Amino acid sequence: MANILILGGGFSGVAAAESLAKQLTSDHQITLVSRSSRFVAHPSLVDFAFGKHGIDDISHDLRETMHDRRIRFVQGEIARVDPYERLVTFAHGEVRGQMPYDYLIFALGGRLATERITGFYEHAHHTLTVEAALKFGEAIRGFKEGRAVIGYSPETRLAVPAYETAFALSRFLEDRGERGRAQITIVSPERMGAESTASERALRNALNEQNIEFLREVSINRATAKSVLTSLGDRIDYDLLMLLPPLRGASAVRGMGITDQDGFIRVDETMRVRGVEGMYAVGDCASFPGPKLGHMAVSQGEVAASNLAAEVEAREPKAQYEHEMMLALDQEAQDSILNKQFWVDGKVGLRKAGFPGLATVFQNVNVDSLTGTVAGGRDQSARAAGHSMISLAG
Ligand SMILES: Cc1cc2nc3c(=O)[nH]c(=O)nc-3n(C[C@H](O)[C@H](O)[C@H](O)COP(=O)(O)OP(=O)(O)OC[C@H]3O[C@@H](n4cnc5c(N)ncnc54)[C@H](O)[C@@H]3O)c2cc1C
Repeated sequence: MANILILGGGFSGVAAAESLAKQLTSDHQITLVSRSSRFVAHPSLVDFAFGKHGIDDISHDLRETMHDRRIRFVQGEIARVDPYERLVTFAHGEVRGQMPYDYLIFALGGRLATERITGFYEHAHHTLTVEAALKFGEAIRGFKEGRAVIGYSPETRLAVPAYETAFALSRFLEDRGERGRAQITIVSPERMGAESTASERALRNALNEQNIEFLREVSINRATAKSVLTSLGDRIDYDLLMLLPPLRGASAVRGMGITDQDGFIRVDETMRVRGVEGMYAVGDCASFPGPKLGHMAVSQGEVAASNLAAEVEAREPKAQYEHEMMLALDQEAQDSILNKQFWVDGKVGLRKAGFPGLATVFQNVNVDSLTGTVAGGRDQSARAAGHSMISLAG
């Protein structure tokens, strides 16, 4: 019997757990560990902050869905993973001390490196966790006039929430008849090409239409109670501040010699961690160039599961991950970049699947519990989150 641990109850960990349970017999023990017993669809967090979804619309209970698939769920905070001793150390939770494993899938996502922007913790809002999105929602409702500054760093790894927030804020203020009293500024490190693409033009047009100021090739290094300091040395005063900090690898494997310079775990195309036995890494925690996206997380989880199942059964691990740009997007959100079609241009063909909701998207990749299909019927609320998937075919 193999004792398999999967760490992290996000897109990649849940995809891996489910896929593994389908491939292995019940002789093997599969355990999913995560700090919260809820799966949260992160791409819906901007809408959640603006009050368009409730928490039950964008999340569901993992303990229940995992149980239905004979996967043991353990709630706990992972402090450390020793890939050489094959030991996981808990900081706290339902398990105390350490848990040994035969095989591990590491899916703990990224770490928000808020310390890289001085004053971030004290002064900036963000939408990258449920708690932060709730707090930002309160600040939005209290924002009646003045300047909202929305910025991201060159190492954010996904700027989508910054743009979605700017558009959603503009719409929100307009609905309240307060748009005229507010200035919205996006501070972006993005370099625009000398020849702008259709997507860049679409973005700029949409920003102009909404009267959103766009400062580019600049990032925010420091925040104080009333202003931010930029990489160009300018000071920008604000009344509402939302920043996306740099993303780094999860700290549980820091110093183990398996990560790149930013802490992301080095893997090969089978999703096995380079240089150690019996360990896979998937999702935002894995070292790949470019943005970190939901679909990549799901397909990496599936590849790892397939290869791990082969390893357990002494077969050759054959599945390979192909790094391609796909997005899980909130199709019903008016401000999502899908609806604004920013990604359609001459170079990048947009194949949009007509998925009506989150359920359909993830059925497409065979991950049932991400679909909201739970014991006793379909979870309508997860379905209501309404996601879509597009593929950016080069
Ligand atoms: C606001 C926002 C908008 C986004 N928009 C899009 C979009 O439009 N399109 C798109 O494709 N992608 C989008 N993404 C990115 C996408 O959500 C991520 O790529 C995806 O969630 C990564 O999945 P993951 O499983 O690797 O990591 P995560 O989803 O981060 O999951 C990690 C899991 O591990 C748990 N965990 C972490 N540390 C510990 C610990 N020490 N102990 C125990 N448990 C721990 C967490 O609680 C979580 O359950 C967005 C993300 C955010 C935050």
